[in-house]
Amino acid sequence: MVTTERRYVTSWDVKEYVYCPVIVWIKHVLNVEEPPDFNMIFGSSKVYRQDILERVGLPKPWSFEVSLRNSSRGIAGVVDVIGGCSRYEVVELKAFRRWSYSHFRIQLMFYAYLVSTTVGPVTRAHLVLEDRVRTYSVNNHAIRDVEWVIERVREIRDSEKPPQVLQSRKCRLCWYRRYCPSV
Ligand code: SF4
Repeated sequence: MVTTERRYVTSWDVKEYVYCPVIVWIKHVLNVEEPPDFNMIFGSSKVYRQDILERVGLPKPWSFEVSLRNSSRGIAGVVDVIGGCSRYEVVELKAFRRWSYSHFRIQLMFYAYLVSTTVGPVTRAHLVLEDRVRTYSVNNHAIRDVEWVIERVREIRDSEKPPQVLQSRKCRLCWYRRYCPSV
């Protein structure tokens, strides 16, 4: 059964789209979802270190784990940290450092887009990978990228055919491999 929540595009959808679009299709069309393992649970546990938030210059006041949805745009998510008033900055925290984090960057920009369309304008976005911080400007180009990915997610969710992708190194360890039409 399709729930109300599933009609929204979420930060998970855009993150997984950038990691591999086929995962979005398997989850939404085949209705299969990877059960969380220890690394996923521990990796998504949040430690809000004040020293890091101060180091990035996050304006106050700070709000944590803010659940937002924009019904007219059909997007929803829980933002780790929002800082500021009238002009905002957002933070996404990950417990581990990663060598590849483009999927986390789009997730972060999705949050920036979600906040900018529900709360107010967002100027900067910070991705914290354990104790390392990447800071990005939130500009029109970044927002257009997010909007483009949101539209691709919608197309994939509504398609009976899976997206075409080439196999890559990450396929070897992919939990979705057993359902994947591309391997
Ligand atoms: S096996 Fe490869 S192509 Fe298939 S879902 Fe996983 S990462 Fe994507």
